[in-house]
Amino acid sequence: MKFLDLQRENAPYAEELKRVAAEVIDSGWFLQGERVASFEQQLCSYLGCRYAVAVGNGLDALRLILKAYIELGVMQEGDEIIVPANTYIATVLAVTDNRLVPVFAEPDERTLNLNIHHLEHLITSRTRAVMPVHLYGRSCWGEPLKELAGKYRLKIIEDNAQAMGARSRVPGLSGSCMSGALGDAAGNSFYPSKNLGALGDAGAVTTSDAELAEVVRALANYGSHRKYYNRYQGFNSRMDELQAAFLSVKLNYLDAENAKRRDCASFYSKLLKDTPLVLPESAGEEHVWHQYIVRCGERDRLQEWLHSQHVDTQIHYPVPPHKQSCYPRYNHLQFPLTERLSQEMLSLPIAPGMTVEELSFVAESVCRFCMGRELSQNK
Ligand SMILES: *Cc1c(COP(=O)(O)O)cnc(C)c1O
Repeated sequence: MKFLDLQRENAPYAEELKRVAAEVIDSGWFLQGERVASFEQQLCSYLGCRYAVAVGNGLDALRLILKAYIELGVMQEGDEIIVPANTYIATVLAVTDNRLVPVFAEPDERTLNLNIHHLEHLITSRTRAVMPVHLYGRSCWGEPLKELAGKYRLKIIEDNAQAMGARSRVPGLSGSCMSGALGDAAGNSFYPSKNLGALGDAGAVTTSDAELAEVVRALANYGSHRKYYNRYQGFNSRMDELQAAFLSVKLNYLDAENAKRRDCASFYSKLLKDTPLVLPESAGEEHVWHQYIVRCGERDRLQEWLHSQHVDTQIHYPVPPHKQSCYPRYNHLQFPLTERLSQEMLSLPIAPGMTVEELSFVAESVCRFCMGRELSQNK
């Protein structure tokens, strides 16, 4: 069983996707056209934010937000940005790419997200922003984060690569409860395996800040706000018409797909509840289950066992960003919880198209492993 079968996941929409692809090909218009503009509108109404700027990918979306804040004088080189220690490295790359300094924060063991109750001690006179990551599909938001941002005038930049469609219980700064519209700005990814996946690279910046949106749009287009006039030293990061057309189709089905992911997750949790594994909390609409993560002291053996049963699993992530060889200057830092989690976490296959039989097979294979371990412990 594959970890994720994208061919099967896209199959229900294949006819519709081929039809819109044909329309784009016949139109002869491939960049900065009406399909991108209309996807941006659609995304704004879905999220309840004012502006969306379609860009090349999720990492660029985050880089562009920070670069725009630098252009606007909100932050400058060497300023500190609080990021979760337990995240995909792209969050941190966006910070260091702009010569800003990542300040890592341990997660909340229950949610695996940034511990928003425990950030204040990390704030210095150079802190300019917090970047909550809605990791594994669970929205990371709450009053403590809003209060902290208000008190220290910090920007809140969401990394919404994994949680498109998640709804926070607490409304965001502009009133919307959708992740991607909670903070001052959000970077969204439409990488094919994300909950809203394109058929190639794509991303978007979403915000309700008109000035920020305008600067991001210029920066993503060589720094040009008007053709052949360059206000900034920008780069080129644009979503193409083809991806926008695909995403406009797929956004219509996102809520239904996320509901299926929730069903998969509760099914797993029901079948695995008597095992010694640490299971993810259910979190209602706050969670769109980009990943279903279990924790196991014998994670590598469990993974090998599942592999022998033809169940593919993955580890998100085996090496935390501060321990990566691209960051020798952070390698000495210690985040015990993050490091322990990276040893214990295992992602089981989860996707809207998975059948009950497949989910049962995965769960039963996990149960068989746990029973075998218990027996050997009793000997
Ligand atoms: C996927 C991902 C990104 C980067 O998105 P790309 O579109 O692949 O560039 C950033 N942050 C997180 C948490 C992600 O999962």
